[in-house]
Amino acid sequence: MQEAATPTMDGATSDSAPRIRPLDPLLVNQIAAGEVVERPASVVKELVENAIDAGATRIAIDLASGGIDLVRVTDDGAGIAPADLPLAVGPHATSKIAHATDLERIATMGFRGEALASIASVSRLTIRSRRPEDDGASEISVEGGAAHPVKPTSGPVGTSVHVRNLFFNTPARRKFLRTAQTEQTRCVDAVRSLAAANPRIGFRVSADERTLLDLPPDQSPRARALEILGRELDSRFLEAHADQFDDARGIALWGLVGLPDIARATNRAQHIFLNGRPIRDKTIQHALREAYRGLIEPSRHPTAVLMLETAPDAVDVNVHPTKWEVRFRDTSLLHSVVLRAVRDALRAADLTTTGLLRPLPGTLRGSEAIQPSGSIDAARFVEYFRRDVPASTGGRLDYDRLRAALDPIRSESHHAATDEPPAHADQSPPDASHVPGFLSPRPARRILQVHKSYIVTEDEHGVLIVDQHALHERVMFEVLLERVTAGNLESQRLLTPAIVQATESHLAALDSLAPLLTRLGIQAEPIGPTSIAIHAFPTLLFDRKVDPVEFLAELLDHAETDAFNPDSEEALRDVLDMMSCKAAVKAGDTLGDHELANLLDLRDQIERSSNCPHGRPTSIRLTIDQLDKLFHRT
Ligand code: ADP
Ligand code: MG
Repeated sequence: MQEAATPTMDGATSDSAPRIRPLDPLLVNQIAAGEVVERPASVVKELVENAIDAGATRIAIDLASGGIDLVRVTDDGAGIAPADLPLAVGPHATSKIAHATDLERIATMGFRGEALASIASVSRLTIRSRRPEDDGASEISVEGGAAHPVKPTSGPVGTSVHVRNLFFNTPARRKFLRTAQTEQTRCVDAVRSLAAANPRIGFRVSADERTLLDLPPDQSPRARALEILGRELDSRFLEAHADQFDDARGIALWGLVGLPDIARATNRAQHIFLNGRPIRDKTIQHALREAYRGLIEPSRHPTAVLMLETAPDAVDVNVHPTKWEVRFRDTSLLHSVVLRAVRDALRAADLTTTGLLRPLPGTLRGSEAIQPSGSIDAARFVEYFRRDVPASTGGRLDYDRLRAALDPIRSESHHAATDEPPAHADQSPPDASHVPGFLSPRPARRILQVHKSYIVTEDEHGVLIVDQHALHERVMFEVLLERVTAGNLESQRLLTPAIVQATESHLAALDSLAPLLTRLGIQAEPIGPTSIAIHAFPTLLFDRKVDPVEFLAELLDHAETDAFNPDSEEALRDVLDMMSCKAAVKAGDTLGDHELANLLDLRDQIERSSNCPHGRPTSIRLTIDQLDKLFHRT
């Protein structure tokens, strides 16, 4: 048997022989196989997809030597007519599409009609099949592309495809395979993935007589999705959904998204499905990332299963042989649907990191704050949402009240800095407890500041431990973001300008930053070749004793880096990050009772209070259940 990659060069030197000639059909299929059949897991994927397309309710997969020696997929689906068996293993033969227009609305997993032919060209393949109306089963065998005649045999309704000795005739391809154990794991992963998208179908995988996976038919979507995420993580997932189907090219979405504390180091725990088909898609990944912005550290990746449904003509699945990639007609709609659904799910939930290092499953009492399992009803969903947003502000932060509430933190904790910024409009700090309607009239909670860094208190679930700097940073960030979104930040004029020593590139950066600085309430201009004068600075930063000179110098350094695009939303958030970090109380600051109480109250008022703007947790909760476990009471 010739190696597929070795061209036949005989006669190439003779002038009379044609140099261009059609490829041998086996070679054509082997080349196609190079795209479709990379390893046993690809065989598993193709065969299981065929079984799904055939309407199977149960699919069994048997493997030997990680699928290298044998992959057998047996289904109870519609079967293949005896006369169709030779066609099924031939190239470009499919029952799924007939006309070019069909390509625009593909609803099946397969359609290219090349999988069986490709697999047959690089293995020993046997198909046994029987339709419900047939008296018996029929069988066809193909070895290295050569088909034997169809012969009658016995067998149940459905189809069983045996693929033996993969790549027996293409040793070079075989060399790329990993150990049997690795290939087996990939085969099981391929089944898990397809199973997640088809919770009504039962799947069983066995290898060398051992059952590796056994999923009963008719599981709930959540239970199935947890098969790929890890069942033990059940309590760490929220349900996300969106239904934008009203519009003709609509998108519906259902998914499980992980709490920030189970984010991973890679994006391998993101499983995206479109119309039941596992896909990889940059737009969706980006939207997912966006939704978690500020909730996880930038180096981490959210964990999620997202199932999207679109009309078949809203997407082109015919852009890649393995069908991993698809092309959406409306990527911006896609982005906004995913972003909104995931963001809403995160907003509605209590994202407080729970427990010590590793979260214990199911530990929130009555899992009240975590979305219940099973399907979610919209009214309940909306209710969750409402509960987390202070009713008094109609869903928006009331800046003035927040500012008032922050003021005591300023007045008590910050002793006059030596380089006191120039005086600004004189106002006596309002006492937050006098601001009507802001502080909830709940009984005072007991609060303890620990080592001038952490705040410990009690809530309805157990003990809450707060990092004072991280939480205050988040509060400052949300206040600033809300304010900037509503208009430019309020600023104070300096009586005498503050002078920043600047380099030439600082001056250039200042120029490009102009619109951003205006939004932030910073007024600065070059005076001479090496200095910049600051004339006005945001009130909120003044209040928090942030030094204008230090701040602007740092901002200009930051703006010099290549990645910084001053006109992007990202840059704005970056700068707000810097501001909040500088303005927030620090570890080591002593806080008075009033400040502690205010800070904890603000925690309940703002969004994303579970994590600081860099994604680190602001709070950790030890639930009563966990404490009981730790003390061996249960
Ligand atoms: P495609 O799935 O793209 O149509 P394949 O080469 O995978 O191409 O399969 C060729 C044809 O064989 C399918 O169109 C289908 O008619 C038939 N077929 C393959 N597997 C099965 C199965 N398990 N049950 C019923 N029909 C099948
Ligand atoms: Mg197929």
